[in-house]
Amino acid sequence: MQIGAGLRIDGAATAASARAAVARGAAALAARGAPAPGLATVLVGEDPASHVYVASKQKAAREAGFHSERHLLSADATQDELLRVIARLNADQAIHGILVQLPLPRQIDSGPILDAIAPEKDVDGFHPINVGRLATGDPRAIAPCTPAGAMILIREAAAALGRSLAGLDAVVIGRSNIVGKPMAQLLLAENMTVTIAHSRTRDLPGTVRRADVVIAAVGRPLMVKGDWIKPGAIVIDVGINRIPAPELGLDAQGREKTRLVGDVDYAGALARAGAITPVPGGVGPMTIAMLMANTLAAAERAAGA
Ligand code: NDP
Repeated sequence: MQIGAGLRIDGAATAASARAAVARGAAALAARGAPAPGLATVLVGEDPASHVYVASKQKAAREAGFHSERHLLSADATQDELLRVIARLNADQAIHGILVQLPLPRQIDSGPILDAIAPEKDVDGFHPINVGRLATGDPRAIAPCTPAGAMILIREAAAALGRSLAGLDAVVIGRSNIVGKPMAQLLLAENMTVTIAHSRTRDLPGTVRRADVVIAAVGRPLMVKGDWIKPGAIVIDVGINRIPAPELGLDAQGREKTRLVGDVDYAGALARAGAITPVPGGVGPMTIAMLMANTLAAAERAAGA
């Protein structure tokens, strides 16, 4: 963490130590003669961004000492073909985590696909069984990677500021199944008082101003203004948005360059926050680290560890 007006929460550094801990856990499993954690990624079609995401997940898996497999289906694959791949992976003892890269092509209905993954191999944490387990506080729950990573950064920031999370007011902006709702469950499990805000919330600035912890997961560049932040608050910016950056000039093809920003006006919020995540380098790197942690935990459970 860097000390400025607020602490800059270094998600890249925390993610690197989380991944090192996962690699140690995989080595400990191997030392007991258990199989290496196995992660299968399933990709349908040629979406370039999805290929980049899957490649980085496979690289992280190999670096952690995992067994890693990629299953590539053509863009016109059917629902049944994909279900057959999942059934095979569910039955494969070398595989502990199955990740179906979203979005799926239009002819495939993603709900039944995600429901078909064995809950104990659902390392994305999207299966209704895991959603239910998270909501009921069942220790077997596999939590979705992005909110789980954000929760680690919140705990670290609170520790660095010498605060206890119990009883604090948290505001989550966004109610998606992938980020907002599971984030709220994780905060509630820390005994925080949780508000979920969304596009129909009246007086969003006023709601955010009451928050000791703010999590922005909206997808609107720089929407949360610096003067919405309660002095000393912990601010977690999940948003990843690409915006034009005329100040950077043109690229080699003569096109205007772009840059990544979060949902929070970082410069404005940094002046008031107790601690804040940057974009990039905040929550983003934690997501893959938590995918590895979820896969290791699934392998440990399978080995009876
Ligand atoms: P969704 O589009 O699924 O959800 C966005 C949420 O924001 C919705 O609940 C929506 O409300 C709410 N919202 C939209 N406009 C407003 C507004 N004006 N005021 C208040 N709330 C609003 O997005 P995701 O949850 O999937 O992702 C959110 C962001 O996080 C995106 O930028 C995405 O790229 C990023 N992301 C980053 C990840 C990472 O690894 N760091 C991983 C996943 C996502 P309503 O429900 O009423 O429509």
